[in-house]
Amino acid sequence: MSLIGGIEAGGTKFVCAVGSGPNDIRAEHRFPTTTPEETLAQAIAFFQAQEGEHGRIAAIGIAAFGPLDPNPASPTFGYITTTPKPGWANADVVGVIKTALGVPVGFDTDVNGAALGEHRWGAAQDVDTFIYLTIGTGVGGGVMVNGRLLHGLIHPELGHISLPHDWAQDPYKGRCPYHGDCLEGMAAGPAIGERWGQPAFELPADHPAWELEAHYLALALRSYICTLSPQRIIMGGGVMEQPQLFPLLRQKTIDYLAGYVQSPAILERIDSYIVPPGLGNQAGVLGAMALGMAAL
Ligand code: ADP
Ligand code: ZN
Repeated sequence: MSLIGGIEAGGTKFVCAVGSGPNDIRAEHRFPTTTPEETLAQAIAFFQAQEGEHGRIAAIGIAAFGPLDPNPASPTFGYITTTPKPGWANADVVGVIKTALGVPVGFDTDVNGAALGEHRWGAAQDVDTFIYLTIGTGVGGGVMVNGRLLHGLIHPELGHISLPHDWAQDPYKGRCPYHGDCLEGMAAGPAIGERWGQPAFELPADHPAWELEAHYLALALRSYICTLSPQRIIMGGGVMEQPQLFPLLRQKTIDYLAGYVQSPAILERIDSYIVPPGLGNQAGVLGAMALGMAAL
């Protein structure tokens, strides 16, 4: 079994790990995301130390915040492109890692990585067309179609779809800097906190916030079900740590589909259709390792 390195490159923290799968993580290291120079140097130092201890690393996968360029034929492959995060716009991530460590490097969005990891080891092993959504600081989605991660033009941006917005029911204007009341603007963790004047994780389980959150998420799932025809939907990220969201979301998704999409997977087995990540909070870093394996 080859030793693989994974980098979950998040906007607030990096998680690096070395191993060969969920049951064989040899070491893990977390550190805050600062400048690209400093943060990537820390990742490189970690992998060099691990090679000293466990032997040669065969490949590295990077699952990163974006937007980014995942197209190997593009001159800016491996770059984070248009992020507002200071210092990271047009940062060459793959080039720096590849030059320092001299191994094949896989590179994709954090959510496409998580989808690949879930397909290999987690909650999507028995399907080949599904989506992995994260509802956290932002909203993002990775998409696997017929066994391959979807890139197309660039990569999917499932968080930035528009939703019906009943301003009388919810006067909150949304906080996406690009679109205001897109899904991310209305339903990511910081939007919940801003709308209700209290951090999302502090709101009690019976707070009306969760009914409204499930409403927006279910509207989004209806759109994804109708456009992508996923065989399963995996819902991760900090906000989904609220267990009461799952039953609300499942029921509303069925209600909003209104009987139009006729599948027993939805109508009879919704509990195994909309599910949490099988890899739990390791989905990100294991997804990165899966990208490394794919690059081998
Ligand atoms: P990130 O998106 O930065 O990778 P997370 O997925 O943990 O990280 O998302 C962080 C967001 O999720 C924050 O806005 C926080 O308010 C929200 N969050 C974290 N934990 C919970 C929780 N238990 N319940 C509700 N919201 C949470
Ligand atoms: Zn948006």
